Amino acid sequence: MQYLDTLMHMSAWQLFLVFLIQNLLVFAAALGLGYIIRLLFQVPSQQITRKEWRLAGITVIINSVITLVGGLLWQSGFIHLQSGWNSTVLTDTIILFLAMDLLMYVFHYLIHHSVLYRYIHQLHHEAIDPTPVDLFVLHPVETIGFGLLWLMVLLSGHFNLLAVILYLCLNVVFGVVGHLGFEPLGRHGSGQWKAFQWMGTSSFHHAHHRDINGNFGFYTSIWDRLFRTYLPADKK
Ligand SMILES: [Zn+2]
Ligand SMILES: [Zn+2]
Repeated sequence: MQYLDTLMHMSAWQLFLVFLIQNLLVFAAALGLGYIIRLLFQVPSQQITRKEWRLAGITVIINSVITLVGGLLWQSGFIHLQSGWNSTVLTDTIILFLAMDLLMYVFHYLIHHSVLYRYIHQLHHEAIDPTPVDLFVLHPVETIGFGLLWLMVLLSGHFNLLAVILYLCLNVVFGVVGHLGFEPLGRHGSGQWKAFQWMGTSSFHHAHHRDINGNFGFYTSIWDRLFRTYLPADKK
């Protein structure tokens, strides 16, 4: 792919600029998606505060640096990416999705059960009823932690580039859904449809913001059910 060839020969600064623009577009798309859904469901949204903009801006910059580190590791041959449409697109997407879901569950659980909660993660929990911007309202240390987990996974195997892109899109969609602050599937929507019971729906992560003792997963409720941290439905 010519796009990859161009990236392969870019300097670190050029790469950073490309990834900064890419992360800004992802940020804009995530906010746009989240607030448009709220608008469509006639859920009023408060104006984003200066503090939220500032924290979200820092998150975007850190994410760009993490992407840059990934890009440099790829340029130097430490991260291997395959290209092309084949069955690995599907299998790698599923592997990345479940591996990151498990690792983030563990990371999130440990943050909640240590001194790190008070100094790092409590900031994200200032929102009892989250809004889309809260996806980016994170302490810098937390953003770096999630970024390092992601780089560790990428370093651990040869993944299909399309699967990586697909996974990153899913990551944003689930992040936005988790911070909608209301359940578009209806009050008991996620209970009505069996498939959604296993997914990280809006009410699933919203329940974690309301009760910090459970629902540590992000994309699925698999790990919470398995490790008995799943909040009962009436908490949602
Ligand atoms: Zn939490
Ligand atoms: Zn959250």
